[in-house]
Amino acid sequence: MTHIHDTIVSLQHSSPAQKEFYQAVEEVLTSLAPLIESNRQYQEQAIIQRIVEPERQIMFRVPWVDDAGNVQVNKGYRIEFNSALGPYKGGLRFHPSVNASIIKFLGFEQIFKNALTGLPIGGGKGGSNFDPKGKSDGEIMRFCQSFMNELYRHIGPVTDVPAGDIGVGAREIGYMFGQYKRLTGRYEGVFTGKSLLWGGSLARKEATGYGAVYFAEYMLNDRQDSLKGKKCLVSGAGNVAIYAIEKLYHKGAIPVSCSDSKGTIYHEQGIDLELLKQLKEVKRTSLEDYLHTYPEAVYTPASDYPSDGHAVWRYQADAAFPCATQNELTLADAQALISNGCHLISEGANMPTTQEAVNAIIDSRIAYGPGKAANAGGVATSQLEMAQNASMQNWTFEKVDTHLQAIMKDIFISANETSKEFGQPGNLVLGANIAGFRKVADAMIEQGIV
Ligand code: NDP
Repeated sequence: MTHIHDTIVSLQHSSPAQKEFYQAVEEVLTSLAPLIESNRQYQEQAIIQRIVEPERQIMFRVPWVDDAGNVQVNKGYRIEFNSALGPYKGGLRFHPSVNASIIKFLGFEQIFKNALTGLPIGGGKGGSNFDPKGKSDGEIMRFCQSFMNELYRHIGPVTDVPAGDIGVGAREIGYMFGQYKRLTGRYEGVFTGKSLLWGGSLARKEATGYGAVYFAEYMLNDRQDSLKGKKCLVSGAGNVAIYAIEKLYHKGAIPVSCSDSKGTIYHEQGIDLELLKQLKEVKRTSLEDYLHTYPEAVYTPASDYPSDGHAVWRYQADAAFPCATQNELTLADAQALISNGCHLISEGANMPTTQEAVNAIIDSRIAYGPGKAANAGGVATSQLEMAQNASMQNWTFEKVDTHLQAIMKDIFISANETSKEFGQPGNLVLGANIAGFRKVADAMIEQGIV
């Protein structure tokens, strides 16, 4: 469709060298074609052109001093993408790969994901190319304080509420919140993913991983199937992967793999969850150490991965849960999964599947939950944390988890019904993109040209 094609070409000129951002925009816009074609108002109001342009982009210097007394400098970002439905909401990522393209792709995806939850939150994302790995606690604290010295003036409980993402957990949120409080003198719900000691929500830590598994279960139930007894491949070994594995066990499934940036573990009898938590949440060490306890498990270092993909997706399994990072599942990986009998993919990570792989998966008609639907449990529970902070309440784990399940079910129904409405039943990429986009676009029209 020329309208969409023109928008992408014009983005490539106005925002050069942002390949992950173009990938996310192309994926969303392509699936919106049937809606845009049937609705002239979206074209007249230039909704597409407006929605691909962030409302505000903040980029800043983050200087800090390492333990050896050397001055270090990193880049900081906060992309306030769209506030049609509520305050900007989205995580902060600290990883050496972070750049404007990655933060913009994540912020763009966040708009539609947040809309899909049905909760009053807009979309944003931020982060830094700072690498927390191998840093001392003191270095992490000094970096977080410096990052907040600039960011504090742009965020607030009714304007922009960041959370965690890769490399940002409760420790980093704690240091950033401490500095925010010191700079502003205000104790308020400006972050989610906080410690339970000072305003965090039970079940927030578990929410993204649990949510991706709930979503998988709803997809299978719709096909008169369930996760019980299913052999599952999981990638990642961080917050999302660990709690996806935990919920898979609750559902009677057998998660047999996990991975980190250095390699993949495959353990036929099922991943030892407590050991995984010990290695990654407590010791923060490499997955290779899993072999000290289970020498019979298989460890494949990243240097031995196939040239066209990743070891984790080359095992036989019934279901796959990509929970590490973007573009970690290639076309060759998707073909291997499908030919090995995998009939469900539920994305815990953001955009883990390349565009060619997504097309092959949709064509195969296996159950496929795209990240913006399947991993929306994290941001949904963040909003529940905001609701608890605003009303000065602490809900029980069960209450938050019950809300989470209901939200994941609503997201599945909304994406599934929309896929039927547009003549492509079961295509949840199209369903989720259109369902999310419609809410944001209609709100933008009602709020005028702003
Ligand atoms: P964590 O930092 O807790 O864990 C990330 C995991 O992925 C780690 O095991 C890490 O390995 C691995 N990883 C990260 N980058 C790479 C890379 N370039 N190559 C290979 N492996 C890599 O992050 P989360 O679990 O929070 O996030 C995982 C994904 O889920 C991301 O895509 C994030 O955007 C998405 N997400 C997270 C939400 C949340 O609530 N946390 C909400 C919605 C989506 P290592 O241990 O070696 O660093």
